[in-house]
Amino acid sequence: MTIAVFPGSFDPVTRGHLDLIERASHLFDELIVAVMTNTSKQALFSKTEKVQLIEAEVASLPNVRVQAATGLTVDFMAAQHATVLVRGLRNEQDFGYERDIAWMNQSLKPTIETVCLLARPPYAYFSSSLIKEVAKMGADVSAYVPDAVAQQLAQRLKERE
Ligand code: ADP
Repeated sequence: MTIAVFPGSFDPVTRGHLDLIERASHLFDELIVAVMTNTSKQALFSKTEKVQLIEAEVASLPNVRVQAATGLTVDFMAAQHATVLVRGLRNEQDFGYERDIAWMNQSLKPTIETVCLLARPPYAYFSSSLIKEVAKMGADVSAYVPDAVAQQLAQRLKERE
């Protein structure tokens, strides 16, 4: 039985993340989407909100669960008996970033293997940060995030005005 973890900040979850989640759910017996803190990013949504938003979108995938996590990804994975770490690659920039993280994680826990899935177009061209940026200026982001997420995003940005 192979348990995989897909860690990320998901601020907010996008159609790109969801495409990866669905694809990864077919590759492993169980997939845990781990909502982590990226200390270099300022979050717009709380972990609880992110978990709820993702859960609503993955309800039809029986082997996927969503969990908030703290600390090192490798420690979370060990506690979950997970051996595969899933990440996405959109471009060359992601490659350099993901390679360094994968190396560090393997150095911290050699039993962990990172599997990177190539993002499919058009998902490869956007990020949560870019979506937040254009949403702030009033753009319709429903092509990039699920409808419920687009609504919550508009609401949150209005509160922050
Ligand atoms: P982190 O802050 O940990 O990078 P993100 O939520 O930004 O968290 O990204 C989590 C993972 O999802 C990363 O591996 C990233 O490359 C991938 N990812 C982000 N956006 C997309 C997208 N639009 N399509 C496919 N993969 C994506």
